[in-house]
Amino acid sequence: MGKEFAKGDHVVGIDIGGTKIMATVFDHQYKPVGSCRKKAKNAKKDESAEDRIIRIVQTALEEAGGPSIRGIGVGSPGPLDPETGVIIDTPNLGWKNFPLADVLSKHFKTSVVVDNDVNVGTYGEWSFGEINSCQDVVGVFPGTGIGGGIIINGKLLHGFSGAAGEIGHMTIEVDGPYCGCGKRGCLEALASRIAIAKELAALAAREDAPFIAEKCGSDIAKIRSGVISKAIEAGEPMVEGVVRKAAFYVGIAVSNLINILSPEAVVLGGGLVEAMEKLYLEEVKRAVKEHAMPFLRKDVKIVPAKLGDDAVVLGGARMIVERLTAKG
Ligand SMILES: [Zn+2]
Repeated sequence: MGKEFAKGDHVVGIDIGGTKIMATVFDHQYKPVGSCRKKAKNAKKDESAEDRIIRIVQTALEEAGGPSIRGIGVGSPGPLDPETGVIIDTPNLGWKNFPLADVLSKHFKTSVVVDNDVNVGTYGEWSFGEINSCQDVVGVFPGTGIGGGIIINGKLLHGFSGAAGEIGHMTIEVDGPYCGCGKRGCLEALASRIAIAKELAALAAREDAPFIAEKCGSDIAKIRSGVISKAIEAGEPMVEGVVRKAAFYVGIAVSNLINILSPEAVVLGGGLVEAMEKLYLEEVKRAVKEHAMPFLRKDVKIVPAKLGDDAVVLGGARMIVERLTAKG
């Protein structure tokens, strides 16, 4: 403990996502020297999620020339316990009370830190972005769902349960539509890619969104960020209206967070923001101007995420290095 992260040292960042798993080996300057990315779903049915992750890490290490590593930082879907690295329940991967940190630590004989994937992504954007000097940061990532991460005084906020930061389940409309969590009116039920796609599918079926109708029909699964952005570029005003409303809802959630936490910076990422950055920033800033308190919103930086698909592996690498080099 306490030893600097120096020349010749390596760490691994792992991003366990809903659709893909990625592992990247980084050198002491956080330069990637080996990486492997595969679909999360097993092609071979007899391979467990943990065996698959181990194989992906091994492939990345081989690509890096087989360096010894000082540690591994993992972003995983939650809920999980960031103290122990136990995944509490992730039906997608077949894990229930699964000791992920211990399993990886034993296999690779190294230190492992595990945190929620969105927390780790927020940490990555904070560590390697222009907002690095800010000590209080909120990250919001609208995509298929809506994830969030909160950094207070330079540290991720975990709260009493360990699972703080569920920004997607902030209640925005008390009697609103049902959310995946079973409650009504969460931000995610109003502004996720699925919520947007649901509304666009109805427009397509009514012939009010011909571009969407032509490319996707009214299949919600096919109405993804890229095609939505192209429909807006093609000049479909109702599609733009639907997305602007969703982005404004995200801005309402951001306004609530500004009023409660007084962050210095808010970073916006995820598939929808990446595809329509200008529109998202405009609507979020508009909502913040209308709904956050002037003294609290003054000077808050609202910035787009920069790391894209590398946010979680970089955040994981940074987290394990911070853990290994912590003083005292
Ligand atoms: Zn919810």
